[in-house]
Amino acid sequence: MQKLLNIVLFGPPGAGKGTQSERVISRYHLTHISTGDLFRKHLGEGTVLGLEAQRYMDHGKLVPDEIVIGMVEEKINSTADTNGFIFDGFPRTVLQAKVLDKLLKLAKGSISVMILLKVPEDELKSRLRLRAKISGRTDDQDEGKIQTRITEYKDKTLPVASYYNQQEKLVTIDGVGSMDEIFSKVCTVLDPLYESS
Ligand code: ADP
Repeated sequence: MQKLLNIVLFGPPGAGKGTQSERVISRYHLTHISTGDLFRKHLGEGTVLGLEAQRYMDHGKLVPDEIVIGMVEEKINSTADTNGFIFDGFPRTVLQAKVLDKLLKLAKGSISVMILLKVPEDELKSRLRLRAKISGRTDDQDEGKIQTRITEYKDKTLPVASYYNQQEKLVTIDGVGSMDEIFSKVCTVLDPLYESS
């Protein structure tokens, strides 16, 4: 059986995970799992899960692990025939990362690499202010919510980078520059893995 290529695209809010994910998906034909997008979809459909998540998202806080994990598990288990997954905005806590390892093991897979897009805080804030004008996302509209999301990232999410670093799976990329420049750096990391998978 062909080995799956499973990638975690990691970084703070506004780092460019969504933009780079789209490009990665079209080049490597991976299945996208963006927990932020999945929550917004649930919210749009008015599901119980969406309404529960909204209570946290509206304040820029992380949604509790058990809610996120259940949703991701369902998505992994309902995906047949894939070259692998690109996880975008997940895992965001060390517990989520540990559970993800177990879920992938059950599917006889593992994380191949985590790519961290590194962007200075001032640049993140100006990107999110710009995105607020077009995204319609309520969590982009408010300086306080943006600050809470960045603080949540530093407190709860950054330790996930150390978790993958211990497994020698962390690659850090400078996330400042044109989308094309950044994507070509992403490809430098992924091409050799794709060829060997
Ligand atoms: P951003 O990276 O710009 O903050 P996302 O779309 O990834 O945007 O996430 C939006 C919100 O959804 C987060 O602020 C959080 O409330 C919730 N969320 C998304 N993914 C997770 C996750 N893995 N764990 C907990 N909460 C999450």
